[in-house]
Amino acid sequence: MGVGVLEVWAEAEAVTVGTEVSEGREPGLYPAMLRLQGQRCLVVGAGDVAARKVEGLLACGAEVVVVAPEVGEALQALAEAGRVKVHQRPFRPADLAGCRLAIAATGSPEVNRAVAAEARKRGIWVNVVDDPALSTFQVPAVIDRSPLQVAISTTGVAPALARRLRERIESLLDPAWGQLLQLAQRYRPRIRHRHPDLAQRRRFYDWLHDGPVRTLLRASQPALAEHTLRAALDVETQPPPKGSVVLVGAGPGDPGLLTLRALRALNEADVILHDALVPAAIVDLARRDAERIAVGKRGGGVHTAQEVIHRLLLKHASAGRRVVRLKGGDPFVFGRGGEELQFLKRHGIAFEVVPGITAAVACAAHAGVPLTHRDHAQSVRLVTAHCRDSLDRIDWAALARERQTLAFYMGIGRLDTVSGKLLAHGRAATTPFALVENGSLTQQRTLTGTLADLPELARRHAFASPAMLIVGEVTALAPTLHWFGELLAYDAAGKALPQTDALADAA
Ligand code: SAH
Repeated sequence: MGVGVLEVWAEAEAVTVGTEVSEGREPGLYPAMLRLQGQRCLVVGAGDVAARKVEGLLACGAEVVVVAPEVGEALQALAEAGRVKVHQRPFRPADLAGCRLAIAATGSPEVNRAVAAEARKRGIWVNVVDDPALSTFQVPAVIDRSPLQVAISTTGVAPALARRLRERIESLLDPAWGQLLQLAQRYRPRIRHRHPDLAQRRRFYDWLHDGPVRTLLRASQPALAEHTLRAALDVETQPPPKGSVVLVGAGPGDPGLLTLRALRALNEADVILHDALVPAAIVDLARRDAERIAVGKRGGGVHTAQEVIHRLLLKHASAGRRVVRLKGGDPFVFGRGGEELQFLKRHGIAFEVVPGITAAVACAAHAGVPLTHRDHAQSVRLVTAHCRDSLDRIDWAALARERQTLAFYMGIGRLDTVSGKLLAHGRAATTPFALVENGSLTQQRTLTGTLADLPELARRHAFASPAMLIVGEVTALAPTLHWFGELLAYDAAGKALPQTDALADAA
């Protein structure tokens, strides 16, 4: 588990510390997990809340009895399926006979109080929903990766905080943890037998928790994961190194556009090799003690050769580290992700790929340009205008056809060529474009106009890298659907339009 998780725990603990036993305060709660299999439990009430409590108890194998004068749909269904016994009548004290615990989830404070009082008298643990004072036990917020469960309690003082922490931890713990622990549970005797020495066994578990077995589970390869575990138990020596590389797409720059998987990978990384263009706000989301190495191009400045990046990946992964290779946008769209994975594959390094939101998609969304539209465009092309070489190899006649959207990456230095070639191959001079600079970032600017005016307008407003050029009928919608950042719009006559219709409408 990464330090990111531990940090959240530290915060959760800080909350507990604040409510700890001190002068005049009530003592805190004793945390425990109950085994309820085959134990009789009473739920009083049969609405939606009660149904959720019943589901939770059934999941633990409890024998559940429900008492309520009126029964909601969900519980009715459970009763019909024979999963609970429902008594459709008011609560009676005798209902508690033989019960291990009770939950009062009725809308009536008197009934809830009666259940609580009677249960206390009989020494039965009782929870009254949303009433910590009446309850002798409370139900924590839970992150369920069975058999792993993380429970959060604020002693009932701050349920909203518990929910927030739950969301954070939920996003940090990938579902593979559950599968991994189930696997570990099955192999426990064999692991113990293979590594009778405690220190060795710990090292083996570290390998199991961090290494290729979990990577394979995350990659939906359970059979291969189990095979890898078995092979590691068979070898005479220490387990093989656990180093791996996660190729992560960081999106267009706004940290809010990272995926949960990208965030998890950052939280678990020992080393991060990031492109110089990935903003600090994203790199900073990584574990505090992770090593950060900036590689790649830095706007015409320092340039790390691809072979150097390959060597760094190999060096750190071979040393058993979890490496994150963080790239702008999506790693497989003009990102050389393929080359890096081919290299890793040749060297037998395990890898995963986390997709990111590519610049064309992010810029279109933030400029109010639907990339496809039933009335205007039936296809999208992602094109690189990086260098003369790539421009020469482009099939301009195909790109110049109508009713398609073109998204040009790395094209800011070649706007003359791009617009000239499209016009020369028959695209109408009035075809609209949108040029989006710093898409999704607070300093985003969007320029719209017609193809013939593109180079001149871009020069006039000094548009610079990173910028995405979108050409096609759909970009005519930008002035109407504009909602983010600054808009500079020009009509076909090259006249500046007043700030967007959308903003004018809103005013
Ligand atoms: N793998 C990346 C693309 C790398 S090429 C992706 O999937 O997005 C770099 C080019 O992407 C830049 O020259 C620019 O054209 C585009 N780009 C990246 N981030 C951008 C942003 N925030 N705004 C506009 N264009 C961007």
